[in-house]
Amino acid sequence: MTNLFEVPCPSVAIIGSNKCFPVHRVYCVGRNYAAHAREMGGSPERESPFFFSKPANAIVANDASIPFPLRTQDLHHEVELVVALAGDALAAKGEHLTVSEAKEAVFAYAVGVDFTRRDLQAEAKAKGRPWDTAKGFDQSAPMSRLTLLADAGDLMDANISLCVNGELKQQGKISELIWSVPELIVELSTYYRLRPGDLIFTGTPAGVSAVFPGDELEARIDSLETLRVRLCVRD
Ligand code: MN
Repeated sequence: MTNLFEVPCPSVAIIGSNKCFPVHRVYCVGRNYAAHAREMGGSPERESPFFFSKPANAIVANDASIPFPLRTQDLHHEVELVVALAGDALAAKGEHLTVSEAKEAVFAYAVGVDFTRRDLQAEAKAKGRPWDTAKGFDQSAPMSRLTLLADAGDLMDANISLCVNGELKQQGKISELIWSVPELIVELSTYYRLRPGDLIFTGTPAGVSAVFPGDELEARIDSLETLRVRLCVRD
C-alpha cells in the first residue's frame, strides 16, 4: 500500500552535517522562568511549569520572512532554548527516563521563538479552553540550525536574549530555568513515550511583547547560531 499523496516531513538543518534532523513532535513548556511566570500573572512558588505542543509543521528555518499570522491583533515573541532529542537509548526506551538517560537523549540545541497569539491565549485561559489556536498555528516556531551537543558546550551559563528592530526586549540566563533540561525530559517522559526527532521548546524569560508586520527579530543564545526572523504583511 502506498499513501494517496505526500505530506512533507519537517526537518531542521544541523551545523557541520549534510544530514537534516527530521522533526517528529514539538513539545513546549509554559512558565519555566520565574520572572516570565510572574509577568503572565502566575506564581512560580506555587505552580509548576507545564507542557503544551505545536504541530511539527509549525517549525520554520532560520532567516525566514513569516506572513503576519491570521486571527490575531496581539502576536507575542517568546525566545526559547530548543532541545533536539535523539539516540539509540531513547529509541529503545523513551518512557520514564532517568536523569542520566535524559542527558543521553539530548542530541543538539538551537534557539527558537514560540510565537503566541496572546489575545487568543487570554480568551482560552478565561474560558478554560485549549491553547491550540493560540500556540499551534502555521509558522509559529521559527528556529536556528541545530548545534550538536559537543559543540554547544555547557549552556548553563549561557545568556538568552531577543531584540526587535535592534531593541533589547528579552534577556535571561539558561541557568534561570525552573526545570532544567534533564528534568524537563524526565518529566515529559512520564506523559509521553519520547522518540528520536522530538523537539522541546523549554520556556521563555521575561520581557515578551507584541510584534507587527515589518518587524525584524534577532534571538540569541551564547554558542548557538543566532536566529533571525522577519514578519511581513500577508498577501
Ligand atoms: Mn513559550
